[in-house]
Amino acid sequence: MIEFEVEDIEGLKRLLDEKQRIVLLPHTSPDGDALGATGAFSEVLRAVYPQKEVWIVSPDDIDDYLSWLPLDKKFVSFYQEQGRAIELIKEADLIVHLDHNQVKRIRYPELIDAVYQNKQAERILIDHHEFPDNDFNLVFSYPELSSTCELTFMLIKALEWDKAFLSSKAATLLLSGMVTDTGRFMYACFYPQIFQHLSELLALGADYPMIVDRLSYHNKEEQLRLQGYMLNDKMELYPKLGTAILSLSQAEMEERGLTKGDTEGLVNLPLTIEGINSCCFIREDKSQIKLSLRSIGDFPVNQLAMRAFGGGGHINAAGGEFQGSIDDAKNIYLYELKALLEQKNSIEVAE
Ligand code: 5GP
Ligand code: MN
Repeated sequence: MIEFEVEDIEGLKRLLDEKQRIVLLPHTSPDGDALGATGAFSEVLRAVYPQKEVWIVSPDDIDDYLSWLPLDKKFVSFYQEQGRAIELIKEADLIVHLDHNQVKRIRYPELIDAVYQNKQAERILIDHHEFPDNDFNLVFSYPELSSTCELTFMLIKALEWDKAFLSSKAATLLLSGMVTDTGRFMYACFYPQIFQHLSELLALGADYPMIVDRLSYHNKEEQLRLQGYMLNDKMELYPKLGTAILSLSQAEMEERGLTKGDTEGLVNLPLTIEGINSCCFIREDKSQIKLSLRSIGDFPVNQLAMRAFGGGGHINAAGGEFQGSIDDAKNIYLYELKALLEQKNSIEVAE
């Protein structure tokens, strides 16, 4: 069980007490965990310190598949309102990075520059990815935890704010990130405390039925048809490597009227096949190739993402970006996978 250092919690409390203009940052293309953690923490901060300015500045908009998250209005997306987003970061005296381990994960150079140029602000990291950068004033980095939402809940409890200041809305946000980052309690959750935290959040009024409903029964027809298309026409299996590749070009996305969020979850589908232990989903976006990697068991896709695509993530879920063609990305993925498997097993692996 994780025990925070007393001086870290005191340091966190001191910064939150002292600072007046607080900006919370999720990572680019924020997922349920990044939005849940920023949303819940901002909600609790506003309850504890009603006189302070607390804003979420997101690099990107909220994808449709997460539009139901009960976030409040103090949310600015850089994508929609560049000037306002930059201004909020420039004026902040405290910046909290949630669910990412490096400033560069907020992606846009103007946003990154605004963070680094703000010399008056202290910066806190609250995250569960391995290998955090060392340019934060205070770091809460716990890769062994399921989600940044779970970590945020533990910090709220350590600050003794859970009873008086954690609303049912904030509890719902925290539970949303725990549910999405564990694939509904299927991975990254094999330790007792997470179920204790789940139970505590339910007692605080988290709306689990709503989360399950929104994640399960509100897909667009096109999303389901896309699954059929990907499995039928696009899935490439490499049984000797125990891997699968799915890819989607920009032309296919446009033809089907798809947005990035519509491809969420596709990468998990091939893992249900016996003998397939890893999968790479390659999506051609307008200015780059985006990769999503998943594995089951002990194969570290974050190492592959880091080595081959300058990305990162967790052992079983990682991602990266690439400039080039889909075919190049496929070949690099297969080459690196083979090399890592050979290194791991100290044998030669055929495709
Ligand atoms: P997803 O495949 O769902 O986009 O991301 C899976 C995991 O990998 C998440 O924890 C996410 O933060 C991380 N990840 C995805 N893309 C990148 C990337 O380009 N760089 C880094 N460092 N991490 C990424
Ligand atoms: Mn996360």
